[in-house]
Amino acid sequence: MCMEAEIDQVRGWLRNARSVVALTGAGISTESGIPDFRGPQGLWTKNPLAEKLSNIHYYMSDPQVRKASWRARLDHPVWTARPNAGHVALAELEKRGRLHALITQNIDELHQLAGNSPEKVVEVHGTMRKVVCMACGTERPMAEALHRVRTGEEDPACHVCGGILKSATVSFGQPLVSNVIERAFRVAAQADLFFAIGSSLRVYPIANAVQVAREAGARIVILNAEETPYDDTADAVIRDPIGRVLPQLLAY
Ligand SMILES: [Zn+2]
Repeated sequence: MCMEAEIDQVRGWLRNARSVVALTGAGISTESGIPDFRGPQGLWTKNPLAEKLSNIHYYMSDPQVRKASWRARLDHPVWTARPNAGHVALAELEKRGRLHALITQNIDELHQLAGNSPEKVVEVHGTMRKVVCMACGTERPMAEALHRVRTGEEDPACHVCGGILKSATVSFGQPLVSNVIERAFRVAAQADLFFAIGSSLRVYPIANAVQVAREAGARIVILNAEETPYDDTADAVIRDPIGRVLPQLLAY
C-alpha cells in the first residue's frame, strides 16, 4: 500500500476510535533537537563515558561521576527544546477528547509543554525536570538544583537530609517504578486504537504494551523511522517523519 493510502486508512480508524492510547519514544523528540541516546547518532554510541554517567552504581559510589553528571545536565539540549508538530498533534488529540492516555519513554516533558495534561501522561522513565533525593525521596525542581550547580556547588546535596540528589529518571541499573508500569499496561488494555510513535520497541517491559493492546482488541499503528519487532503484527506501519505524519492523521 502506498503511504498516502496508508495514512488515509489510519485517519479513518482515528475518526471512529473511542479510546486512543499512544506510546512515544525518543524518535518524537529528535525532531525537537534532543538526541536519541541509543540510536546510531546517539550519545552513548558516540561517548561511552556518557553511559557511565547514566548508571546508578557509578553515580551513587563516585563523586566524580556525580560532578560530571551535574555539568552535563547544565547544558542538556532539553532546556532549550520546544515541542514539535508531533507533540502538538498529540495535544490536539487530547483537546478533541480522543486521547485516553499517553505513555512515554521520554524524560523531557515536551508532551506536557505541548499542552497534554500531566494526568494523561504516563512517564515510565521519569522526568529530568525534577530531582529526587536518593535517601529521603524528597523531590524538587531541577531548575533549583541547576542554579546551585551554577553558583558553585559541584554536587548539591538534599537540603532535608544531606542525601545524594539525582534527576528523577530511571537510570540504568535502577528498577522501574512498578505502579507506573502497571498503569501503562492497564491503559494500553483500554485502547481501541494504539499508536507506537518514535519508539524502537526494543526496551522491555514497556514494549509489551503493544502486545497488551493488541490482545485487548486494539488496532496497532506504528510510526517509526526504523523497523521494530512489532511491525509484522501491526495493522499499519508508517516510516515518514513523525512531525509530518501526525498532523496529517489529525485532518480527519
Ligand atoms: Zn533527602
